[in-house]
Amino acid sequence: MNIPVLYSPSQTAKNPSSFSPSAAKPAIVAAALLEHGYPVSFHEPRPLHLSELCRAHDPAYVRGVLTCQKPNGFGNRDQAVAASLPYTSGSMLGAALAARPTMPACSLTSGFHHACWDSGGGFCTFNGLMVTAAALLAIGKAERVAILDCDAHYGNGTDDILRHRADLAPSILHRTMGGSRTQGPAYLRKLREFLAEIEGFEPTIILYQAGADPHEDDPLGGYISTEEMRERDRMVFEFARDGGIPLAWNLAGGYQRGGATGIDPVLALHLNTFREACSAYGLPVPAAMDVTWDAPHDPVKDWR
Ligand SMILES: [Zn+2]
Repeated sequence: MNIPVLYSPSQTAKNPSSFSPSAAKPAIVAAALLEHGYPVSFHEPRPLHLSELCRAHDPAYVRGVLTCQKPNGFGNRDQAVAASLPYTSGSMLGAALAARPTMPACSLTSGFHHACWDSGGGFCTFNGLMVTAAALLAIGKAERVAILDCDAHYGNGTDDILRHRADLAPSILHRTMGGSRTQGPAYLRKLREFLAEIEGFEPTIILYQAGADPHEDDPLGGYISTEEMRERDRMVFEFARDGGIPLAWNLAGGYQRGGATGIDPVLALHLNTFREACSAYGLPVPAAMDVTWDAPHDPVKDWR
């Protein structure tokens, strides 16, 4: 069995007004997986209905964004962004439904966790993590959902939605590495603590944001090395595998630029996550991407 990857060109909107390269990233990662022969199988996500998005958001906000009356998480009212949104959350839910105890699944999606109950921000419009968790609970596909957020930034939107959907809170454990700013070995110790908490929660599925922006050269993150990021992914995959817990991960943040794709350093980090998944689940491990690392940008590490 290969790793199911949820991706559709429909989830990618050209959004030139944004600093974030995340909108183009899914297509770049999908092309690289194909080109380098990764053991993956692509699946088309189903666009979610308004009612499915409204499980995690104020219906007036959802309608306003989809009809371009209210700003999206990029701060614009772009029609192409609005059209892509049912696919991005659909991609995460699709990955969650495709994940098995013996094989994780990946959604080629990024910003979710800054999206709050009735507002977006930080490149996030709808919170696909909470939309997915709420859907899994509503349709009886999960009893308890663990959200392990290893993006560099704090998952404030996820917390906000949990406050508004207090009825879901007992069934969802949210742990976010963002904001702690622990570095190196301390980062991995913190992750180990989170994994112990997740083990105690006995989740029936794990949603894992494998952000590339904690990397030490990232202009918006920056506190663990390439090898520590691989160790992070290895710990998470081995934890899920050993516990027989289905796991769906997504790309989340990553803002380094450079190389032929424009985001080669970030692409290499996301491919490393796939390589760790291959290793943990007994699939052939492709070679690491050869990247000439550009000099780091001037860090803007106080960004939220
Ligand atoms: Zn981030």
